[in-house]
Amino acid sequence: MATSPDLPVLFVVDHDPAALDVLVSDLSRRFGRGFAVMGATSAESALAALRQTASDGRPVALLLVDDAHEALLGPAHELHPHAKRVLMVDRDYTTRSPAVQAMTLGRVDFHIVRPWGDDEMIYGPMADFLLAWTREQEPTFELFRIVGTEGDGKVLQLRDVMARFNMPYGFYPSGSDIARQALSEAHVDGDHLPVMIRHDGQVFVDPTMSDVAHAIGVNVTNDVDTCEVAIVGAGPAGLTAAVYAASEGLDTVLLEKAISGGQAGTSPLIRNYPGFPHGVSGGVLMERTCEQAWLMGAHIVFAQQATDLEIRGNQRIVHLLDGTEVRARIVVLATGIEWRRLGVPHLEKLLGSGVFYGAAVSESRAMRDQDVFIVGAGNSAGQAALHLAKHARTVTLLVRGATLDASMSSYLVRAIESTGSIAVRLRTEVVDGGGEPLEWIKVVNRATDVIERMRADALFVMIGGEPNTRWLPDEVARDTHGYVITGRDLLETDPTQWVYDREPLTLETSVPGVFAVGDVRFRSIKRVASAVGEGATVVRIAQEHLRAEAGEPALR
Ligand SMILES: Cc1cc2nc3c(=O)[nH]c(=O)nc-3n(C[C@H](O)[C@H](O)[C@H](O)COP(=O)(O)OP(=O)(O)OC[C@H]3O[C@@H](n4cnc5c(N)ncnc54)[C@H](O)[C@@H]3O)c2cc1C
Repeated sequence: MATSPDLPVLFVVDHDPAALDVLVSDLSRRFGRGFAVMGATSAESALAALRQTASDGRPVALLLVDDAHEALLGPAHELHPHAKRVLMVDRDYTTRSPAVQAMTLGRVDFHIVRPWGDDEMIYGPMADFLLAWTREQEPTFELFRIVGTEGDGKVLQLRDVMARFNMPYGFYPSGSDIARQALSEAHVDGDHLPVMIRHDGQVFVDPTMSDVAHAIGVNVTNDVDTCEVAIVGAGPAGLTAAVYAASEGLDTVLLEKAISGGQAGTSPLIRNYPGFPHGVSGGVLMERTCEQAWLMGAHIVFAQQATDLEIRGNQRIVHLLDGTEVRARIVVLATGIEWRRLGVPHLEKLLGSGVFYGAAVSESRAMRDQDVFIVGAGNSAGQAALHLAKHARTVTLLVRGATLDASMSSYLVRAIESTGSIAVRLRTEVVDGGGEPLEWIKVVNRATDVIERMRADALFVMIGGEPNTRWLPDEVARDTHGYVITGRDLLETDPTQWVYDREPLTLETSVPGVFAVGDVRFRSIKRVASAVGEGATVVRIAQEHLRAEAGEPALR
């Protein structure tokens, strides 16, 4: 049943020949211009055809199989590791449905439920699944060309920004012919790398974050000195606060030291965000929220770090690194946390050269056929392991504790246990490493004191972090780790922290009119949805504060 030999393949497997015929002709009608739709009624014939496409070097974009053929997905994935896997199941909202386990264990990327009432019910999701595949292919149009040294920390940062803002770009390793050609066309010698070349010919040599933000078209200059609400930090909490504040008609400024997205922007797949049953890329979610905040009327300034918060009477003044300041009636602190460091000097030196903090979205493709290690035992480490296992040869989780269950959600533990290429080493710490870029690490098993040197292509460090609050004045009460204390916690942790004759509002810090939301807050949940929830909630509470300040009655 093959069609157009040059197109990527959309492969359908259904044991019922009549149902297969209908599916193949329906899908061909809708997607036939861009994809060759092929089909099979048995695992054997499907595998034979998929082997042939693999040996012809023909990409398979999507495999759509009915639940009777779920087992086919394993060998099919080995032949075509980049094909999106879609399981077709009957409607059954119980945990018995094969879709539940298959999604949890990462054996499929998507599912669709049948029967569908009209064709649009299958066309819409299929278009999304195919788009997900297309997005992962090398871009044909490059808005930016980056010439640099593979593994260099600055290159990593640039690729991260490109991935977060969904910018089509190409990376050219310095020394290659194509890199030399790009540099010569841009009239630069390549003595200072990385070089970023925009499609309109603008060249940025060893660009700062401010240059990068400017190049992709976002505002990096603070030209506002007064507003009603100043929000510091553009992760999910700050971005949502900006959406809600601006949509309530408040004059809102959002200040971000880098670019938008925060930690969430580095997460390749957020599976627990409501409304996205197949998960959502943190970068995409944050990019959309940023656009939404802007369209609602928030004034967004990137690459501007808040360096101080001054309280002068009723005014709260945020000082910025460039020397400017923003006066606001309300300040929302949404600065999140910074990853905790490993503290192994040799490995710190290799930062960006095989050693990474957090899982940079852009790096996963580069891990193909590599031996990858992850230090950490939290949910982020678990998700990173599963994501990296799609590309890497081996993934080893190095865990200091005696079990994973204490720190990781059980669905992730189960998924890790059932992924053959992931190994877990308990009671294990990294004590050394070397190479340039990283070639080996040394680990010690604390139960046996045995030290082992292991070949390593990459090490991702995911061991939690420190809140970004060092810049705040002492008036903003924090716990011993630096988390900002808010609401009733102020009274419960130390009543002397709150000196006013009313109770602190929810999310309010020890300074009236200054609120804290998201990860930076003491006892916060540290999840995207909770950060979003707090960002939305804080605006209503801040409005109450403004009304009380103005002597107006509280909102109902
Ligand atoms: C790899 C990874 C995977 C994750 N996966 C999930 C998941 O699947 N599900 C889930 O629910 N959660 C996940 N999390 C956790 C989630 O991302 C965080 O809980 C969430 O991002 C917190 O949002 P936030 O807005 O409070 O802070 P952040 O996202 O940390 O954002 C804070 C922002 O403030 C900026 N900033 C800091 N200091 C300053 C300053 N002085 N001036 C101006 N700006 C400043 C930072 O640059 C940053 O952009 C993951 C985290 C990571 C790292």
